[in-house]
Amino acid sequence: MAAASSSSCGGGGCGANCSSSASPATDDAPEEKLGRLSISTGGAASCGKCGGGAVVVVAGGVGLCAECLRAQLFGKFKLAVTSNAMVRPTDSVLLAFSGGPASRVALQFLHEMQSKAIESWDASNSQALPAFDVGVAFVNESALSSKPKCEIELAIADIKSIVSSLLPGDKAMHIAPLEDVFSSESNDREGRLRELVSMVNDDTGREDLLQCLRMLSLQKIALQNGYAKIMMGSCASAIACHVLSATVKGQGYSLPADVQYVDTRWEVPVVLPLRDCLSQELSLLCELDSLKTEQLLDRPCSGINGLVASFVARLREENPSREHTIVRTAQKLKPFSFNKFSANGYHDFLPSRLRPKFQNVDSDESTFPEVFCIICRSPFSESELHNLESTKHKAQKKIDLYTAYCCQSCHFQILPGGTNLGDQFFSLLPKFWTERVDTAPAGNCSLRDQIEDYLLEDDDDEN
Ligand SMILES: [Zn+2]
Ligand SMILES: [Zn+2]
Repeated sequence: MAAASSSSCGGGGCGANCSSSASPATDDAPEEKLGRLSISTGGAASCGKCGGGAVVVVAGGVGLCAECLRAQLFGKFKLAVTSNAMVRPTDSVLLAFSGGPASRVALQFLHEMQSKAIESWDASNSQALPAFDVGVAFVNESALSSKPKCEIELAIADIKSIVSSLLPGDKAMHIAPLEDVFSSESNDREGRLRELVSMVNDDTGREDLLQCLRMLSLQKIALQNGYAKIMMGSCASAIACHVLSATVKGQGYSLPADVQYVDTRWEVPVVLPLRDCLSQELSLLCELDSLKTEQLLDRPCSGINGLVASFVARLREENPSREHTIVRTAQKLKPFSFNKFSANGYHDFLPSRLRPKFQNVDSDESTFPEVFCIICRSPFSESELHNLESTKHKAQKKIDLYTAYCCQSCHFQILPGGTNLGDQFFSLLPKFWTERVDTAPAGNCSLRDQIEDYLLEDDDDEN
């Protein structure tokens, strides 16, 4: 899963957590093709919505024809976008594209929404709302890959051609090497990335650290190019995997933050419009509509993440709607105040029935500042806060302070043991993270401040 993927922070595509990749095109008759693609067998013979034939069976055993499946998925996407005010007409949206089916569908749907907006803008002689901008980001992890260079180049060329084929609406394409998360003054950035990653002994920890670095990479791209939102392709299946693995890793306190449509704890808010779609449905749509995907650069999950992914795959075999059940259960947890947009700046574009949803954020809940883990940005639990406070007062070695700024889970899973290793590890981390410790009691030193020189004009009223 190349660009940001499955879990909380990542998520362009569902990557390895998320089932079938695009298989090579075949010449089957439509009915046979649909039969082969069906998610489970034994469903209805005609479409449950329109009564048409040629049915694929989707979650819950409901048969849908290709048209109705597409309409249903697009409907979920659009509802998530509009009812959570994910995209304002004046926004530039950065889509995190991994090349996998989930982020491919997100790209397609976002493109369709943009095309419609452009159409009505043109048709209305610029009297309607302006159309939002879309950019696409791919995080290139070839520094950590053993794949031959030419293969990687081919995959990236594929990704570029997918994006450039989506017209109208020019979409800027950002291919960012993962090692760019280190500031430009470090000379051997590739080497530094490799060294950092190799210091984490635990497979799961290494994978999670990479996920955090991907998110940092996306944030940098978004900030440097003036994007207002980052859209991820994290689907229900990927989120279900994250729910279970986060539980196993002891991240229960921060879990609710990761399963919402909107997450504004980052410098550039992150939105997850495919939260209600299953990976299999999305893969199916890619096949039915011949949406090209590119997963050459995916890597399989390992450690806890890999175990959980195969466990969820087995649950899915028994009953395809299990993933929905897991996600819905996690959604019963109380979200954090940063899991919605504040009213500020959104009202103008919202239908009045939705306005109350965005009104009361600033007043009560968000008054006390959250402290976040410098690595994974999990909000601190009470015990983590206590620990941080007492460490700060004792004024010990710097490494103790750094460690206290890491959540319990990162502490156990990612940080190497021993003072010497710890010192080295923190010295290798991207400055954006470690500088948060130096400056801010509440961990508030923003990425925006640090790369201010690179930023485009800041015309926004938010943040
Ligand atoms: Zn139908
Ligand atoms: Zn953490």
